[in-house]
Amino acid sequence: SNLVSAYVSEAERDAEVSVRPKRLDEFIAQHRVRDQLDLLLQGAMRRGAPPDHILLSGPPGLGKTTLANIVAAELGTGIRVTSGPAIERSGDLAAILTSLAEGDVLFIDEIHRIARPAEELLYSAMEDFRVDVVVGKGPGATAIPLDVEPFTLVGATTRSGLLTGPMRDRFGFVAHLDFYAPAELEALLRRSARILGVPITDEGAAEIAGRSRGTPRIANRLLRRVRDFAEVRADGVVTVETARAALTVYDVDALGLDRLDRAVLTALVDSFRGGPVGLSTLAVAVGEQPDTVEEVCEPFLVRAGLLARTPRGRVATEAAWHHLGRTPPNGTFG
Ligand code: ATP
Repeated sequence: SNLVSAYVSEAERDAEVSVRPKRLDEFIAQHRVRDQLDLLLQGAMRRGAPPDHILLSGPPGLGKTTLANIVAAELGTGIRVTSGPAIERSGDLAAILTSLAEGDVLFIDEIHRIARPAEELLYSAMEDFRVDVVVGKGPGATAIPLDVEPFTLVGATTRSGLLTGPMRDRFGFVAHLDFYAPAELEALLRRSARILGVPITDEGAAEIAGRSRGTPRIANRLLRRVRDFAEVRADGVVTVETARAALTVYDVDALGLDRLDRAVLTALVDSFRGGPVGLSTLAVAVGEQPDTVEEVCEPFLVRAGLLARTPRGRVATEAAWHHLGRTPPNGTFG
């Protein structure tokens, strides 16, 4: 099940559009980032010039694409959307850059994955609004300078540590998005439910929020699944009971763990007395690839304080034993 994955499929993008905030004041939480962006945009609009380039960093599903669109909407400009992996040759990027209208926003998702030659082209566009397009090969090659209209680059990355120094230096503003608190996700869910026309109680919103791993994308997805259940098997209202019953059907537990997350914890606790145990041994025990366990399950288990990575292997925390309804052994933690 990918119900609690922070990643999005193309099909789901469409479902997301209807609840996507269009303006800054509709964007829930992240007050610091919102306030900073508000100043940046208002300052630029007063001066009648495009704002500095903006880097948005943070885990998937927290609102980077949404914010990029909001920046363009607030500025009243156009937006061009592409991604690091989609820019294969620097010529692709040159074509996009030279077709921008004055003041446009260029959104590059996964900007840390841009190829090196394209990255270098981007530097000069960001700094001097100019690109050198190389025509021909070998000794006969010539660089043709082309002007680029003043624009604002909005880059998004899940791994700001992977950006090169020169790239990072060219952003005038860097915003870090953090996971959302349960109360913030409750507000987000009430807003989404209102837009979708789904009646929801405060307790129902809280129940879904608690299982959403701090991530708006997951909260909205769980809401859509609970809505199905409420409409098909109940009276259409999302209450705490329908939320619990629906998410039991979908194998998402009270902390937002899915079947595989729980299998990892259960193996750790029941087969290895809580560990420490090596990653590959643990992966075999749950019938998965080590990569899957490490990259799909562990980040959230660690963040939720259920699993620790130690030099001697993976260890279930005391909270993990309690979450599985087991009594932890004495004195093995720390
Ligand atoms: P990815 O990098 O995986 O594309 P992202 O960080 O760009 O993720 P978005 O696509 O912007 O995430 O957001 C995911 C979903 O959550 C969208 O439906 C979006 O509208 C909603 N969302 C995100 N942040 C907020 C917020 N602060 N308020 C309301 N809705 C939000």
